[in-house]
Amino acid sequence: MSKKYIATPSKTKELLTKYKFSFKKSLGQNFLVDVNVLENIVKHAGIDKTSGAIEIGPGMGALTEQLALYADQVVAFEIDQRLLPILKDTLQDYSNVEVIHQDILEANVAEVIHTHFKPGQDVHVVANLPYYITTPILMKLVRDKLPVKSLTVMIQKEVAERMAAEPNSKSYGSLTIAVQYYTEAKVVMTVPKRVFMPQPNVDSSILQLVVRQEPPVHVENEDFFFKLVQASFAQRRKTLRNNLFSYFKEQYTKDNINEVLETIGMDGTRRGESLDMAEFALLANAFYNIK
Ligand code: SAM
Repeated sequence: MSKKYIATPSKTKELLTKYKFSFKKSLGQNFLVDVNVLENIVKHAGIDKTSGAIEIGPGMGALTEQLALYADQVVAFEIDQRLLPILKDTLQDYSNVEVIHQDILEANVAEVIHTHFKPGQDVHVVANLPYYITTPILMKLVRDKLPVKSLTVMIQKEVAERMAAEPNSKSYGSLTIAVQYYTEAKVVMTVPKRVFMPQPNVDSSILQLVVRQEPPVHVENEDFFFKLVQASFAQRRKTLRNNLFSYFKEQYTKDNINEVLETIGMDGTRRGESLDMAEFALLANAFYNIK
């Protein structure tokens, strides 16, 4: 008899009834009920029998089960206490899974990696993320410079497009630069709403982030760099020069700003969205160095 996976509509419904579980919208609970999609996520995540996997929000264990089957060791962070007995039940056959009852935003992930995985083991983050906090979770994980190879996550389609965007596109903005400074970002597939229970209102995509060993550009001061990027996109219809005038109005005269732009050979009539990461680094370093 073939195994009945957790990620099916019938098994999910059975668990909902058995545990009288009701979905909490406020926790972004849209569970996956399609094994093919899950296998796709795991495949794109580069998981194999030597890998460690970190999951955020196991829910009833749909993705956790696939990770347990394909990876060496799995650690999953779940915030909702009501899911703990369910996970204990659904994952009882898998000895390589540990569920930690904690808000991922408060977790010391570096410590967990150190204590739960083998030294030198490749670790990948894989998750169907709660949509209400996708960006804070991903930014925390990439900024913390964890020893993680990649993050492969199901997120809202529009956010995935912003994170993986190219210059001169509608989706390109400060979030793109923030994510691509730390990782190489790629949308690997879009996913229809019908693979979730309950179905979300928005479309979803699988985003893959491969963690960079080094940032792709040299910046003198990261905080200042990210602030300047944000300022350059503050009003998308304005020119770069005008956004910089507003941002630096307490500090520099228009002449000062024009001078810096001229020194680095940057046309101030361009829009922020036309600058690639190297140009933002050039701009930020020039202003940082005259401080
Ligand atoms: N992985 C399951 C699946 O694919 O069926 C569930 C995914 S569901 C979109 C998101 C999960 O994240 C829920 O189980 C929810 O309770 C959990 N969650 C929400 N906020 C969280 C947080 N801050 N830390 C950890 N887990 C969280």
